[in-house]
Amino acid sequence: MAGVMFHTSFLQDSIKDLDAISDEVRLENGVTVNKWRRGVIEIIPSSVTEQTKHIVLSSGVHGNETAPIEMVDQIATEILAQKWQPECRILLIIAHFESMAIEKRFVETNLNRLFADKDYPASQELVIAKKLKQDVARFFEGTKQENRWHLDLHCSIRSSIHYTFAISPQSDHKTRSPELIEFLEKSGIEAVLLSEEASSTFSWLSSSKYGAQALTLELGQVAKFGHNDMNRLAQFNQTLIELLQGKSLSQTGSLKAYQVANSIYRQNEAFEFFFEAKLPNFSSFELGAELGRDGEELLTMPVESGAIVFPNPGVELKQRAALIVKPCQPEFVDGNWSY
Ligand SMILES: [Zn+2]
Repeated sequence: MAGVMFHTSFLQDSIKDLDAISDEVRLENGVTVNKWRRGVIEIIPSSVTEQTKHIVLSSGVHGNETAPIEMVDQIATEILAQKWQPECRILLIIAHFESMAIEKRFVETNLNRLFADKDYPASQELVIAKKLKQDVARFFEGTKQENRWHLDLHCSIRSSIHYTFAISPQSDHKTRSPELIEFLEKSGIEAVLLSEEASSTFSWLSSSKYGAQALTLELGQVAKFGHNDMNRLAQFNQTLIELLQGKSLSQTGSLKAYQVANSIYRQNEAFEFFFEAKLPNFSSFELGAELGRDGEELLTMPVESGAIVFPNPGVELKQRAALIVKPCQPEFVDGNWSY
């Protein structure tokens, strides 16, 4: 049945940059699948109403993060085979084929830092970012803001105290709805980091510009194609499909929430962290613990129950070398999860 649109599969055809057998396919169950371009397909359910969710599911923004790419490919295959019926309109994205080919995070620069509204130096990634911005604008055009979702699927090189976690980007809109939090709870995502700082990531574009329920999801650790431990992501995958099927998701209540307490920006050439380079994300330190040195300045843990996320002592000067986060207890205020 996959043969109606692709020769092999969404992923394999996209890697080879093959023309689709047909760019528009209407399945017997009434679902329409449109190929927009290499690595981008739109799925339209049999009926679209005022309540229909419009969900961007993106993968491969970092080319070596293969588990999410396999997940997105699998969803395309199952929908084309009419294994289950989507009730949401969906945009499936596999983003960065050049970096996939060399099994690297990126070719010239980090694609997931190019989504702010500003000028960036030319790069292969900038070309991709511009296309992705157009795709998302086209996908959300004419849709109701409260029905917009964007789940940008990643996995990390660094190990983590929380095997899976989400980053909820900053937004002036209500982008932390009960439904989104229930989705995180049900899918077994262990923690969510609530960011209040403007960013430049793909999910931040959707949350800040389009008011979408948007997340960057870190789904475990990087492995090569075919070597991902999908069992550990089974609950997430199952819940994701339930979301796409329009099922209502009930909350279970084990999600941990963190807020950003502080950021460490590198100020000097002489810069080091004292902890091991492989320190897992969300490792906690006592208040006042010595974390590193920036020139003459000793860096210490500035908050109670603080933990380190995304440490990178090798960043350029003035760039962020680590996030310091701390647990928080958000509540729903006016339909938005806030602390
Ligand atoms: Zn990534």
